[in-house]
Amino acid sequence: MLNLDTPIDYLKGVGTERAQCLKKEAGIHSYGDLLEYYPFRYIDKSQKNFISDLSEDGAPLNIEVKIEKVEEIGQKRVKRLSAIVSDHTGTLELVWFKGIKWIKPKLIVGKSYSVYGKVSRYGRKWNIAHPDIEPIENQKASYSLQPVYHSSEKMGIKGLNSRGIERLTGHLLSVIPKVPEILPEALRTSLQLIPRDTAYRKIHFPSNNRELKEAKARLTFDEFFFLQLEMLMNKQIQQKKLRGFVIDKLGDSFNGFYHQHLPFELTGAQKRVLKEIRRDLASGIQMNRLLQGDVGSGKTIVSLLSMLMLLDAGFQGAIMAPTEILAQQHFEGFKELLAATDIRIALLTGSVKSKEKNEIKAALEEGDIDIIVGTHALLEDNVKFKNLGLVVIDEQHRFGVAQRAKLWKKNSTPPHILVMTATPIPRTLAMTLYGDLDVSVIDELPPGRKPIKTIHKTEKHRLSTFGFIKEQIDKGHQVYIVYPLIEESEKLDYQNLMDGYEAICRHFPLPKYKVSVVHGRMKAEDKDYEMQRFVKGETQIMVATTVIEVGVNVPNASVMVIENSEKFGLSQLHQLRGRVGRGADQSYCILMSSYKLTENARTRLETMVRTNDGFEISEVDLRLRGPGDIMGTRQSGILDLKIADIAKDNQWLVLARKKALELLESDPMLKKQENRQTAVHLMNKMQGKSRWAMIS
Ligand code: ADP
Ligand code: MG
Repeated sequence: MLNLDTPIDYLKGVGTERAQCLKKEAGIHSYGDLLEYYPFRYIDKSQKNFISDLSEDGAPLNIEVKIEKVEEIGQKRVKRLSAIVSDHTGTLELVWFKGIKWIKPKLIVGKSYSVYGKVSRYGRKWNIAHPDIEPIENQKASYSLQPVYHSSEKMGIKGLNSRGIERLTGHLLSVIPKVPEILPEALRTSLQLIPRDTAYRKIHFPSNNRELKEAKARLTFDEFFFLQLEMLMNKQIQQKKLRGFVIDKLGDSFNGFYHQHLPFELTGAQKRVLKEIRRDLASGIQMNRLLQGDVGSGKTIVSLLSMLMLLDAGFQGAIMAPTEILAQQHFEGFKELLAATDIRIALLTGSVKSKEKNEIKAALEEGDIDIIVGTHALLEDNVKFKNLGLVVIDEQHRFGVAQRAKLWKKNSTPPHILVMTATPIPRTLAMTLYGDLDVSVIDELPPGRKPIKTIHKTEKHRLSTFGFIKEQIDKGHQVYIVYPLIEESEKLDYQNLMDGYEAICRHFPLPKYKVSVVHGRMKAEDKDYEMQRFVKGETQIMVATTVIEVGVNVPNASVMVIENSEKFGLSQLHQLRGRVGRGADQSYCILMSSYKLTENARTRLETMVRTNDGFEISEVDLRLRGPGDIMGTRQSGILDLKIADIAKDNQWLVLARKKALELLESDPMLKKQENRQTAVHLMNKMQGKSRWAMIS
């Protein structure tokens, strides 16, 4: 029986020293690791060239040549190794600047080699720097796509350059028996995937592009499939363990509010989501639901209604926001909405005076408060509840997993959890990041919203932009002007903001115009004061850093100017833009940038101008940045993917998710005989990981 966990030391040709090196440099500990050390590209050996074919700088050349001369040229730090090679059409120089000591002995004058590399031109002379080179006699004839593996200098010294790894892998594949299958046979054949054993062999040594494609498809599917199975299995286990409160009837708090005080008709999407939440609350299983909805889609009212569902059964609700401003705004909003009811609501943030804080804490513990709105302050150990039934976490990406987990412990039976986010996450990524949460999506904006018009402007349009702002203010609207805040250059950014603020005050003089300014260096109280002035409409222009990015709701604001917009990431730009377009009037987003832009920045700005769709934007974002930079990816396992690419292979991910769901539906604990091999593989994968999906 083949054990892929066999330590790599046992493979012939490895030995202790190389084993150490493989572990340290490449993370290869076992046979299985080596098999999954996939080539990152392939050289097409079927395309043979002659030296005379060389035409343009940078073109790849695949030649068979004889070495004419080998010499070291230059002194110490500028030393290079040069080999002159020839075929019947001409001569060419190969050069090395590194690893000279171990390459030189391998270059034997008069012997024939197969050489591959990109040519570069120096004056009238051509050469190939650091080519792939191998004696002709070592060439395997059986495959024409040669694998190329990542290797480090340290690995190279130990003979573990790409060719060295290729040899080890070839050897391993020749000595091991068939790699066992891990997919249920019916699933594998229905998807027309090749056997796992074949896939491993062909990913390293494909004879042609078709074989390579088949191998990639199979291994990509496996990776996504088992990642999904693991998450779904975790979720099942968690749900078995955690019973939730059963809320089977709605009472007066909910019904009274819903029928008498709701200020608008809910959108279809909001109603659908509420039904989903309602079903969760009645199920007896603790709810763990992610509510995704683009900025302005109306998540807040959904969170309030969800909390109301619990009140009549004697539970309390809590909503936690990432900033004081946002918590304050939720509080004010809820207070107004609930004014005609006897529902008791309070605000708990860091800046609440300690006397009042203590009163609130006591009331919470007594059960004299029904709904608490707050910031991180809610997480403090001495904040206790009488009977916490539902926790809502707004803008969840702003909180760490550990912080969220703390809220769980606020009740002996964990409360139901609703996390809300407007950070656009591509659907496929959400599937993986939140595979163990249930996801609800509000995919519809409240009626009457006009799509925001987005315009890209450079410095030379500044005056006309100011003119435009004046027009909007004269129509009674308000305007945001946002400056970037990047930590490395905090001083500079601050200076930028203050210069901008002064310029704006000059162009928009008192008493006709009033300008607010909010930035990170202000005291919380002052920030709040300024913010409130703008919210109440006492000032028309808000000059700010990104503190206003999240959640703030001023429906009368119709223009968002983003200065140095090239410095912002896409999801941030989208968040900022979402601060306008909340009323019935046409809103505008003006992206100011310098004239010269990197290609990446240009793509970002063009994307913003082209679309308002948060999901579309997030797809571009994922393509530009890769998953590593997207919130929440660290703990998700998708960064450990070895072959699958979350951006490029998303149709495979969707398929894998679907198949994993189907499989667990038909056989929840994978007990059936035909799923045995799948179960064993999954267990091995899950063992040692006690990460029982405790994400809130
Ligand atoms: P977000 O999803 O970004 O948190 P909010 O909950 O702040 O969005 O809602 C944005 C604005 O839309 C608020 O002013 C809110 O009162 C309003 N709103 C929400 N739902 C509706 C609706 N069904 N009809 C009309 N306006 C709505
Ligand atoms: Mg919100």
